[in-house]
Amino acid sequence: MLVNSLTDEVNKRDASLRIIKLILQSDGRKGFYDLTGLAGGFPILAEDKALLETYAGPAVFEEAVQTLGKIHLGGEKILALNRTSSGILAAVLALVNEGDEIVHFLPKSPAHPSIPRSAELVGANYREFEDINDFEITDNTSLVFITGSTMDHEVINLKDFLRVIEISKSNEITVFVDDASGARLRTVVYKQPRAMDIGADITITSTDKLMDGPRGGLMSGKTDVMLQIKTKAHQFGLEAQPPLVAGMVRALENLSPERILEAFINKHDLYNGLINDFKGIKETPTGVMLKPEELKLELNNRDIITDINHNDLAYLFSMLLLRNHGIITIPAVGMPGTSSTIRIDLASNDAERITIQNIVESFSETLTQLIRIIDDTKACKSILYY
Ligand SMILES: *Cc1c(COP(=O)(O)O)cnc(C)c1O
Repeated sequence: MLVNSLTDEVNKRDASLRIIKLILQSDGRKGFYDLTGLAGGFPILAEDKALLETYAGPAVFEEAVQTLGKIHLGGEKILALNRTSSGILAAVLALVNEGDEIVHFLPKSPAHPSIPRSAELVGANYREFEDINDFEITDNTSLVFITGSTMDHEVINLKDFLRVIEISKSNEITVFVDDASGARLRTVVYKQPRAMDIGADITITSTDKLMDGPRGGLMSGKTDVMLQIKTKAHQFGLEAQPPLVAGMVRALENLSPERILEAFINKHDLYNGLINDFKGIKETPTGVMLKPEELKLELNNRDIITDINHNDLAYLFSMLLLRNHGIITIPAVGMPGTSSTIRIDLASNDAERITIQNIVESFSETLTQLIRIIDDTKACKSILYY
């Protein structure tokens, strides 16, 4: 294997960041295209910075995030957190005791690790369900999670969603909807209602997913439960600090359902352009994805036999795509442990600057380049670790 450990993954990521820096130095910001869908924009204005440097700043942005957060998510009270994971942890700390049970319904496993990890931290039992017919709660259940849209953008079926809420409500159990990407994907693309409008007690969304904000968690919920969560968040330093809140406020102001819808339409062209060379390419709600196993099959179909495992092939592909075409995908820049699926998200800001044709050609050329170096371990390593 070429990438054997978390350390290797860190080194690979560092290599990607070095390449991005070189591109920046030679061609400026227009030299690369971040198509990860996780761009982490920070769209504050010059006057915001001046305001942040005064005592008034935090109060102004705190008030603005209450207003804009409620417009986006519904609910009674907004809490801005450092990350979505931080909000999940704060809620579990506030609402779940040792020996309790947390039950999670999601369209497809695996769950985001922050949910089972938070359960483990407080000593709660944790059970996950993908099939509504299996879903059940017990006398020990103190919190029900529902994931609206998974990390791979699998979206929950509305009927299942309503059923889980109905079962939980009839047992008076608090419902927390993890709508990290779902708050936009479910509502804009699939026309589903907002979580707070169909009976959730708490919901959270990631301000860098399908919107151009900083990485952060925007939580909304009913007043009493939000006060409990806010208290825990402050005790453990999980809340967003004023500069982050300012970035979230501006990103909420810029929110563009049109861009998400446009991506939903344009992905068909991208898919049709890629399907010839990549039989295993799949559509996602706002783009396409190529699983590492499918990339390996693609090589097998061309009678190319290699010992390199599928994850390493995906890393190599992603690094070549960055180096030679300036296209950033997650396997090149993701944190250690992130999925090695190669995903293009047309709802990314940078998608406006690159044509579908250009992406298709870059993929085909990258496949050719990968095939060219595949038997040369030294060349592969120099691509991965630069
Ligand atoms: C991204 C994501 C999270 C975590 O967001 P962070 O900002 O990384 O903490 C949680 N749940 C789901 C479903 C996600 O997609």
